[in-house]
Formats: sequence, structure tokens, C-alpha cells
Amino acid sequence: MTAEIDSKITESEWEVMRVVWAHQQVTSKEIIQVLEQKKAWKPATTKTFIGRLVKKKALNTEKIGNKFLYSTDLNEIDFVKNMLSELFDNVCNRQKGGIMAYLLNDSVLSFDDIKEIETVLEKKQAEAVDQVPCNCVPGQCHCHLKNEAEENENGKN
Ligand SMILES: [Zn+2]
Repeated sequence: MTAEIDSKITESEWEVMRVVWAHQQVTSKEIIQVLEQKKAWKPATTKTFIGRLVKKKALNTEKIGNKFLYSTDLNEIDFVKNMLSELFDNVCNRQKGGIMAYLLNDSVLSFDDIKEIETVLEKKQAEAVDQVPCNCVPGQCHCHLKNEAEENENGKN
């Protein structure tokens, strides 16, 4: 499920979300314990981030007795995919292949991962183009500058 959240979450809030994703339902005490270990955050710091996530509707609260339980409707993998897509929206289409190669090179992969990637690559091989069309607004990438230079060059000849 890709529920809409009010605004993007910060790196620190992401740390809290990871604890919630790992537990499905969790108390603030448990979140505080994990992040005290990993980040050396004081309980008040973690509570602030929990509060912000509740406000952004990224976390649900349920009161059981005198304890609050936190959960989320956001799916972790969908969330990460959305973040990556948004990041990639800021990059020229021509740069994306190189960035993906960098990420692959930088990752430890299982045989299953490689099989999955190979399946995608086979499909991509069948659809491959000589040059990826640039999707940028003029002035925001080098492609337009290059094209204009080439056009000027051709104009001269
Ligand atoms: Zn471009």
C-alpha cells in the first residue's frame, strides 16, 4: 500500500520507521531502545520523531491500557521504491543506466537477485535504443548544450 503522507520524511524519521516496519506493532519504549543503541539518541529525541511521524500520518497510534502502540500502513519496499523514483526524476534519462550500473556494482547480490536482474536485462536488451532521449528542460542538463553545439557545428558545414 502506498498511502499518501503529508510531507517527506527525514533521515531521522526513517530510522524510526525502520523499527516500526521490523515489528509491525511497537511501543515507543521499544523504538527508543533500538535507536538508543544505534544512534545514541535520548528518549526525548526519539519521541519527537515519533510525534512528527504521527502528525504526518506515517504512523498510526492505538492506545492499549496505558501504552501506545505504533504501526504503519506504509509498505517499506514500496516506500523505498517511491523515494528512488522521486530521486531518479531529478536525473537526465541518459544518466540513469550509468547510475544503475553503479548501484549494482556497489551491492552484494544473491543468485536469485542476479536471476531477477537478468530477466529484466533480457527484456531491456530487446527494447534497447542507440541513444536514450534526453527528458530535461533546457538549462538543466548537458544534453541540450551538446545538441546545440552539434547543430551549430553542422550549420557551419
Ligand atoms: Zn538531459
